[in-house]
Amino acid sequence: MHLLATMPYAKLCLMKIQSTDALLVIDVQNDFCPPVDGVGGALAVTGGDAIVPIINRLAQRFEHVILTQDWHPAGHISFASSHPGKRPFETTEVAYGTQTLWPDHCVQGTPGADLHPGLSIPHAELILRKGFRREIDSYSAFLEDDHTTPTGLASYLRERGLQRLFLCGLAYDFCVRFSAIDGTAAGFECIVIEDATRGVDLPGSIEETTTALATAGISKIVSERIESSC
Ligand SMILES: [Zn+2]
Repeated sequence: MHLLATMPYAKLCLMKIQSTDALLVIDVQNDFCPPVDGVGGALAVTGGDAIVPIINRLAQRFEHVILTQDWHPAGHISFASSHPGKRPFETTEVAYGTQTLWPDHCVQGTPGADLHPGLSIPHAELILRKGFRREIDSYSAFLEDDHTTPTGLASYLRERGLQRLFLCGLAYDFCVRFSAIDGTAAGFECIVIEDATRGVDLPGSIEETTTALATAGISKIVSERIESSC
């Protein structure tokens, strides 16, 4: 098969940023990155901090940047510690289906929930917090994990006239994945920046994500192919 037939088109050409584009930076928080001076790392993604300088450079090219922040109350349903006898990375059945259980992470008001200190995007226009309902997890920036409770992001984007989203951040195989898929379903063109995201990498999760994104028609691009419009 010819190489061109095997690669998404977006990978091959420069893509100029439009005024109706936004960079969506998912959950670049201390608990999802290796710990620094004992802070964070509760659910560290390997290389999670390595994408911070890439995202900072990318963000300078975008007029509109939106950050998300995983923001759980203590005793959150996604914490293994909330389910006696369960351990992190096991699953349990909850009202909305199967929930993967995590170490306690991104607890509201704790240093682990803070955005990574290396993140430097002062012109970000919105920090959207998600996962703040004790009984529902929220991987997606659009819909909580019951797949019906909206975060409000879709309405915000429509009111702002923002139409195309470039997604980066943590983690590729959970919050970036479901944000891209729900964003697409909500009518936004979503493109994942593959060198500006990293996966948790549970068994099969990276491969499943890559397949799910392709099935949803979501393109990938590398950051160097994204060109400032100014
Ligand atoms: Zn979480």
